[in-house]
Amino acid sequence: MYETIKRYTSAFSVSGREKYLANLICEELKPYTDSIKVDAMGNVIAFKKGKSSAKKLMIASHMDEIGFIVTAIDDNGYVRVSNVGGINPIYSSYQTVKFENGTKGVTVIDTSVKKDYKVKDLVIDIGASSKKEAMKKVAVGDLCAPVANLTRLMGKRIAAKALDDRLGCAIASVSCKNAKTPAYDTYYVFTVQEEVGLRGSLPAAFGIMPDYSIAIDVTATGDTVGAKAMEVKLGNGAAIKLMDSSVICSQFMVDSMVNCAKRNGIKYQLEILEGGGTDTRSMQVTGSGSHAGCISIPTRYIHSPVETIDLKDAEACEKLLTTLVTEGIE
Ligand SMILES: [Zn+2]
Repeated sequence: MYETIKRYTSAFSVSGREKYLANLICEELKPYTDSIKVDAMGNVIAFKKGKSSAKKLMIASHMDEIGFIVTAIDDNGYVRVSNVGGINPIYSSYQTVKFENGTKGVTVIDTSVKKDYKVKDLVIDIGASSKKEAMKKVAVGDLCAPVANLTRLMGKRIAAKALDDRLGCAIASVSCKNAKTPAYDTYYVFTVQEEVGLRGSLPAAFGIMPDYSIAIDVTATGDTVGAKAMEVKLGNGAAIKLMDSSVICSQFMVDSMVNCAKRNGIKYQLEILEGGGTDTRSMQVTGSGSHAGCISIPTRYIHSPVETIDLKDAEACEKLLTTLVTEGIE
C-alpha cells in the first residue's frame, strides 16, 4: 500500500490533466483486469468479470488534485493564478510547486492584504526577473501543484499532498489486484475532475449504469486541531459514510458495509461530513439511480500539502472494499 501511495502521489494530476496518473494506473492494473480503457473525459475504467453478471458494481476514486492555473504574468515576472478546486490560501502559501513542464516555483502571499486572504492574493515566484523571462517557462492556462513530499511520521502515520484522493486510488488499485473473483461484474473507475464538481464520475456512471456503487475518498476528522464536533478519529478504522453535503447514502449500502465489517473483524466508524461532496452523489443519481455508499479514509488537514493519514485506516478501508467486492453486497 505504502509504495502505491508513494508512486501515485508523485504523479502530476491536477484536475483536467490526469493523463499521467491515468497511464500509470492503466499499466499497473492491466494484468489484473478483463479490460481497461480510458473514456473521452479521461476516466480510467478497469473491468473485472464477476461470478454473476446479474448485477453491476461501480467503484470510484478520483485521480485529480486541486492546483493553480496561470491567469497572467506581471511585469516583474510574478505568475498570477486562479484556483482549480477548493484552495485555502493559507494552506497553500510558501510551498514549492511544480508545473506540468517541470518548471518549479514558490507560492507567496501579498502580505499588504492584512486579513482574509483570497487565492488572488497568492502569486508564484519562478525566479524570473521579467515578464519576458517568465514567459519562456510558463503561459496562461498552465497548471501547477505542490511538489511530491511524502513524509513518514510516528507509527503508521504519513503526511503528503494529494492523499485526497490518491489514497483512494491506491486503495482501489490494491483491491483490484486482491479481489480474485468479484461477486458481480465490477468496474474500478479512477475518475477525473472530482475537485471541480464531481464531473468525471457522472458520464462514467451513465456508461456503466451500476446497481451498486461505492466511492473511496478522504473525510475530515474530529481530532484535528480546531475541528467541528465529529466522531471520526484518525486510527479508528474505515469510515462508513452516512451523509455529506452531496449525498445521503443508501441505508441498504450502509447496513451491508457495517455487517461486512462486523463479520470480518474490520475496524470501522460512522461518518457524517458537514462540508464537502464526493463521487458518491453522481453514482447515486445517474440513470435510474444506484444503491450508493462511500468508504472514507480519516484525514487531517484536507486540501493542504501535508494531508495526514494513518496507514492502518487505509488498510481497513481496502479490506472492507475487497470483502464487499468478493462476498457481494447483502
Ligand atoms: Zn476527494
